[in-house]
Amino acid sequence: LAPLFGSLAQFAAFTLLVCLCAFGLTVLMVRRTRSAAQHAESHLHYLAHVDPVTQLPNRHEFNGALAYALARADRQDSSVGLLLLDLDNFKVVNDTLGHHCGDQLLKLVAERLVAILRATDIICRIGGDEFVVIVEPADDASEMASVARKILAVLAAPFALEGHQLYVSASIGVSLYPFDAQDVATLTRNADTAMYHAKHQGKNRYAVFKAEMELRAQRRLRMEANLRRALQNEELYLHYQPQIDLRSGRIVGVEALIRWNCREMGQLSPSEFIPVAEESGIIVELGRWVLQSACRQAASWCKAGLLDSLEHVAVNLSACQARDPGLMDDIRAILDETQLPHGLLELEITEGVLMDNIHANVELMRRLQDTGIHLSIDDFGTGYSSMSYLKRLPIDQLKIDRSFVHDLPGEGEAIVTAIIAMAHSLHLKVVAEGVETLQQVEFLRKAGCDNVQGFFFARPMTAAQLTALLLERRDWSTRTVMPA
Ligand code: C2E
Ligand code: MG
Ligand code: MG
Repeated sequence: LAPLFGSLAQFAAFTLLVCLCAFGLTVLMVRRTRSAAQHAESHLHYLAHVDPVTQLPNRHEFNGALAYALARADRQDSSVGLLLLDLDNFKVVNDTLGHHCGDQLLKLVAERLVAILRATDIICRIGGDEFVVIVEPADDASEMASVARKILAVLAAPFALEGHQLYVSASIGVSLYPFDAQDVATLTRNADTAMYHAKHQGKNRYAVFKAEMELRAQRRLRMEANLRRALQNEELYLHYQPQIDLRSGRIVGVEALIRWNCREMGQLSPSEFIPVAEESGIIVELGRWVLQSACRQAASWCKAGLLDSLEHVAVNLSACQARDPGLMDDIRAILDETQLPHGLLELEITEGVLMDNIHANVELMRRLQDTGIHLSIDDFGTGYSSMSYLKRLPIDQLKIDRSFVHDLPGEGEAIVTAIIAMAHSLHLKVVAEGVETLQQVEFLRKAGCDNVQGFFFARPMTAAQLTALLLERRDWSTRTVMPA
């Protein structure tokens, strides 16, 4: 080493430098590893506490924050308000515009919530399209109601999303600590119950939790459990209600209507159990059963030569069925099995369901029409469809909602006359449903309505009773009083 280093001092200095470099490198590497570990840890912490789409605290964080708020309220003898907000029809946005747009929308909703709420309010996203707001302290239910109204108002303005203008609404449930519940889980469940109540009342609204709501929610749960067994237990059956041609006085159609005599809960109305079947998804199986039973019945009337004047047997289609990708296959299989001429089957889809997902439904209706099935829009006048859509829809008939028929003669006249004129100009037939009086019949006849259906002529009845009616081949235009 002597030639390399002039002196021992130089050698010592070199050795020191090498040692320092090695030490420095080691420190750097340890630091790097440590900061990578810290970074990973803080990222994990972030993921565990923050919703990556909206940057709001997530469900885990919400539970902690609410527990903390309740404890503080106990100490300060104050109260805490909880708002649970669920977007209405968010699934449609995801299904039609894609998940990317769905995420964008959630982000924009979160931004609007943050913008209008107080800095002390805690806003979290706890699930797909569910947000919660913890308001602390909350004076009373009326203060919470005004927060809920503020949220509904800010969501009412359209959202601009990749060239689309989207209108979004929400259903909000409100619960208050310590009045409605004593712990985090119950307070959240109560807000959820109130939110479902708001949804069932027609969405785009808020509801403040009340104990009766829980009873109603329990009834729904019982109903759902029973409904799952109803098909196997053969508790379901169909009734049929005739539709009469006002010109000929003959029965030209029948509508199949489901009935349920539940072993545990007694006779239940479809208006009550169909929504439960829809929410739980049971409707797909139930709807298939209705279609199959109605088509078998229609085929047997056909074989007996009773369908000579009958143009169709109508079956109601629910929102879930319309979205079910297996619907077309089911219908084809049922028509094959029953050998029912396709033109004899009519499907009724309510205007509300149709407009909820118009693009997908137009597509479905085209495919249904291609198979020769007839289509009718049920409860027409309640779902805000526009003339431009009606022109493009492959439909055969409109059914005027019974709320307008109920107001005849009188307030309903203008609407009913307008619907009939519009339908005829589009070459569609019109059925008025819920006809209960002779005066209504007279008005509808004068207004040019094609067919009528209602208690004035006949209530929904069993297949055997309807067979007897078809055999009578009665002229219904002579009816002047409602049957007993
Ligand atoms: P909808 O399809 O509009 O059926 C007409 C409803 O009006 C029936 O009620 C019928 O009994 C009732 N109705 C008929 N004439 C009159 C009348 O003169 N006055 C009054 N006040 N009501 C009359 P229902 O059977 O209780 O059914 C209610 C709703 O439940 C139906 O409304 C339909 O939306 C749904 N629904 C019934 N059966 C089925 C089904 O098999 N599948 C699906 N998805 N929905 C069904
Ligand atoms: Mg109907
Ligand atoms: Mg209807």
